[in-house]
Amino acid sequence: MASFTSPELSAPAGSLDKLKVAVTFGADAVYFGGRAFSLRAGAAGLSDAEMAEGISFAHARGAKAYLALNAFMRDADIDALPSAIESAAGLGADAFIVSDPGALALCRKLAPDAAVHISTQANVMNAASARFWADHGASRIVLSRELTLEGAAGIIRRAPCVAFEVFVHGAMCVSYSGRCLLSAAMTGRSANSGECAQPCRYSYAVAEEKRPGAYFPVEEAAGQSYIFNAADLSMISHLPELAGTGAAALKIEGRMKSAGYAAGAVYAYRRALDDLAAGRRVNVAEYESELSKISHRPYGTGFYFGDPLQVAGSSEYVRERRFLGIVRGYADGAAIVEQRGKFSVGESAEFLTPDGAFGDTITSIRTEDGARIETANRTLERVMVETRRPVPEYSILRSAE
Ligand code: SF4
Repeated sequence: MASFTSPELSAPAGSLDKLKVAVTFGADAVYFGGRAFSLRAGAAGLSDAEMAEGISFAHARGAKAYLALNAFMRDADIDALPSAIESAAGLGADAFIVSDPGALALCRKLAPDAAVHISTQANVMNAASARFWADHGASRIVLSRELTLEGAAGIIRRAPCVAFEVFVHGAMCVSYSGRCLLSAAMTGRSANSGECAQPCRYSYAVAEEKRPGAYFPVEEAAGQSYIFNAADLSMISHLPELAGTGAAALKIEGRMKSAGYAAGAVYAYRRALDDLAAGRRVNVAEYESELSKISHRPYGTGFYFGDPLQVAGSSEYVRERRFLGIVRGYADGAAIVEQRGKFSVGESAEFLTPDGAFGDTITSIRTEDGARIETANRTLERVMVETRRPVPEYSILRSAE
């Protein structure tokens, strides 16, 4: 078997918890927003104090930390950018992810020791564009998601002056990598400022203006007209081909998703990449099963092998398992679980740890004061959940079915 060099696995960190979970489960790098400029307004981003803690957490475990500054910026934004750059550089951010040439120039000038990655928002789709960004100081290009595998490989081959990152997993847009006015037009919430209301996931029909209220269905299949709703990307069964493009890094999308999502996605890709690097057989079915347990729409392979699949059917997320909590420690035969969802004694649940999943019926829940309770239903409150074995911090508790 040809030797396999594992690309960097870059994972979303929409909060400090998600950052710690992603790193604990084996991400080589995490990317996050600050409180502005990051295209994920709803995820709020990390405060300066959280960024400081997150960056040192990542560095202590050998992972890199990237700050996304990839919103489309007006003058007022650019005016406010220097302090964000200098502050993050002072905290040790390894790279800035930008899409705006002005932001790139400021990053190079104010933080010359930090790398600059060009965001997929810049829609790099040819080698000349990649060389242009490299000439202006970028060290990595996150390629546009709208490329085939062959197209990505061709660009990487023709622009050896710069490193490349490609998407491996996560939601896709019907527009070019989020360059989309649909949400702003329909809801007043701008996708380009990180506030997308995802109206592409709605059900649509055709109406003639002189017949208000008369809708003509546009059907992909019987009764289904989710014509703009793109399937999620999952390349778990095509990692050798993806790495074969020469990409230095693989990106998991999903800063808005839960810590349970970060854990499951990183777990599956980390193990699959490690299997390949060690020359072991990759149990794709096992990893596909893990990815089926995290929140997702039906999976496809995006543009990599041609036209992407549009979802026929409801735009609801598929979520096979409920995310119940994050493990904060282990004491006296019980995992200390910070709640994210309701669970009760007698329910089947499982812990996902970086070393695997194990589950059982929940036999006992206690408050931190030691009082026994039947149901844990207070989000963010910590409870003690009896388990057969120690569970590492930042493991995930989820429903077993
Ligand atoms: S509306 Fe849909 S296509 Fe447009 S940015 Fe939002 S998720 Fe992407």
